[in-house]
Amino acid sequence: MRSPFVYLFVVGIIIEEIIRAPHRYRNKMDRRRGAIEEHRIGAVESVLMTLNLWGALLAPILYAFTDWFGFAEYELPAWGGFIGVACLAAAIWLLVRAHADLGRNWSPTLEIVTEHHLVTEGIYGTIRHPIYAAVWLTVIAQALMIDNWFVGLGGLAVYLPVYLTRVPAEEGMMLDRFGDAYRAYMARTGGIIPRSWRRLITTDR
Ligand code: SAH
Repeated sequence: MRSPFVYLFVVGIIIEEIIRAPHRYRNKMDRRRGAIEEHRIGAVESVLMTLNLWGALLAPILYAFTDWFGFAEYELPAWGGFIGVACLAAAIWLLVRAHADLGRNWSPTLEIVTEHHLVTEGIYGTIRHPIYAAVWLTVIAQALMIDNWFVGLGGLAVYLPVYLTRVPAEEGMMLDRFGDAYRAYMARTGGIIPRSWRRLITTDR
């Protein structure tokens, strides 16, 4: 038996996939109808995304139900697990909000759909990348809830390069498409941390 936090983490990521499922389905239908105007994804990004899926989704499930990762066990303090649960709950909340606000403009890779419009309201009025923020919270929860350095840290290790390559590519695409409107939007929002929070920790007002 694993620690209860391991099973809770698996339940959390299954809930996240259930939240994503109808959006994935709608995007698939859009693709089938030819309603995707632009698609930007490089080979490196595809490989990274596949690794991300393995690191963040399959490895924890295999860890919960097999003994394959016995070589990398370690002890995690219980308080880490509780902080992890809070991160995971925040991630789920952010995912629900972000998908509701982004609606049909969501896509699993970088895409512009027909009649794509720039969303600047709801959670997108505060941060530009709430879904990516939710993934950060999830991989942090993974490190705090899975008492195995390989599987626990695996999510963070594979998400970091995905995040670092994807955000500039996405913002470049949005700037090409929406120009000054996106530039103004960038100026008044934070990336994954609200601008107002940053003002709390730095002094530049
Ligand atoms: N980075 C965002 C969205 C991720 S989904 C987040 O973390 O929540 C990726 C797709 O969302 C991109 O292909 C882009 O077309 C679309 N997108 C990102 N920001 C958007 C916005 N403010 N308005 C409309 N579409 C957006």
